Amino acid sequence: MLFPSLHTTPDKAALRFGEKSLTYAELAGVAGSLAQRLRGLSRIAVWATSSMETSVAVVAALAAGVPAVPLNPKLGERELAHIVSDSEPALVLAEPGVELPEGLRDVPREDVTLTGSAGELPPEPDDEAPALIVYTSGTTGPPKGVVLPRRAIASTLDALEDAWQWSADDVLVHALPLFHVHGLILGILGPLRRGGSVRHLGKFSTDGIAAALAEDGTMMFGVPTMYHRIATEVGGNPRLAEALRGARLLVSGSAALPVHDHQQITAATGQQVVERYGMSETLMNTSVRADGERKPGTVGVPLRGVELRLVDEAGAPIETSDGETVGEIQVRGPNLFTEYLNRPDATAEAFTGGGGWFRTGDMATRDADGYIRIVGRKATDIIKSGGYKIGAGEIENALLEHPAVSEVAVTGEPDDDLGERIVAWVVPSGEPPSEQQLADHVARLLTPHKRPRAVRFLTALPRNDMGKVMKRALNA
Ligand code: ATP
Ligand code: MG
Repeated sequence: MLFPSLHTTPDKAALRFGEKSLTYAELAGVAGSLAQRLRGLSRIAVWATSSMETSVAVVAALAAGVPAVPLNPKLGERELAHIVSDSEPALVLAEPGVELPEGLRDVPREDVTLTGSAGELPPEPDDEAPALIVYTSGTTGPPKGVVLPRRAIASTLDALEDAWQWSADDVLVHALPLFHVHGLILGILGPLRRGGSVRHLGKFSTDGIAAALAEDGTMMFGVPTMYHRIATEVGGNPRLAEALRGARLLVSGSAALPVHDHQQITAATGQQVVERYGMSETLMNTSVRADGERKPGTVGVPLRGVELRLVDEAGAPIETSDGETVGEIQVRGPNLFTEYLNRPDATAEAFTGGGGWFRTGDMATRDADGYIRIVGRKATDIIKSGGYKIGAGEIENALLEHPAVSEVAVTGEPDDDLGERIVAWVVPSGEPPSEQQLADHVARLLTPHKRPRAVRFLTALPRNDMGKVMKRALNA
């Protein structure tokens, strides 16, 4: 059973969104009633606003055994058309009063209401049957529909229970969108599986986070852009610092948390943010453990049940754990998806021929304690310059230590002499520094061949809804 607490702790608060709240019994009632009406449908879409209704819709679809596709309400026309024609939903569930775009008008709509009491619930569906179809963030290409069975959801959430000592007493505070793994599977389904509760803030603000943690929140989930805001403000905001100091666990994921932000938060609060690493396809792979050493800049160790290896360019496993040798991360375990929707070619390509390991496309090192440090994506973050292979992440972290740099992305650009030259895209924190100052700064902290050869100043980096930098937009 995915959510035993629907039956075992009926009176406990399950979900809170602003003024709206549902106990476990109420959630069982409203989601159960909706589930009765969904039964037998081939697949549904959920217009995934950051709302109670979205959460109820997803719990109902899981109870009915109908695969659900959460849709990002900010999708552009073309992206939405791609996802709708790819996933062919028989129905779209939406919050009452919310207007749906043109591209969804041909799909029957049902409003999710927060009333209803369940009758006889359908039996739990098969563990391997598709439960959710989550589209990837589209950071490196068009989003792919990742088919996730209940088995993957349950096993990743249970591995996180082990790593984070996540319990029914935890109250999770977050403001993440509900159409991706992070906000939806970890942020809503996670607390429900543990029998704890969620306080969703609707929209991220440091004031909202501070108030919720000060009141009863014990954990916070966020993406690095949120922690960057916190890091920038926390030194001068005693209320925020106090609230964070009192939290049991602060977790970051979806993209790399800059070491500098991690350190600033620690300096102001004594808290060390825990980083975890996952993907739509694999759910969670690694995390720093709540009871383990926190090493800023690393994503911790493989979660319980996850087999992880680093392989070299020839696909051979790297046996050394020297914290320096870079290889591609490959994983295997019960946390993995079954396939990309309608993409047998992409599915086949994603797995190795021998042993069925999933190729993540992320490059990393492993230290003697087994901690993984992600250096970047194979496709966009490994720069081949002057005979060296250089990870963008290390240079980004170094540049962020410069006081005049607020945000940065490092890319490679074709260069006649070097093969590729290192380019830094910089959002300055005030008066822009000179190119020479930044190059000298990197050459001093790292080795000289890692210094940027060109610096381009921007007012903001192109980011998607998860706050991930769209490097392909920079290079275009
Ligand atoms: P697409 O596959 O469409 O290009 P995407 O890979 O960004 O988009 P997601 O599945 O949402 O889509 O994101 C997974 C990726 O996010 C990982 O492969 C990894 O590159 C990155 N990531 C997640 N967590 C971390 C982390 N803690 N540190 C560094 N990178 C991370
Ligand atoms: Mg991806």
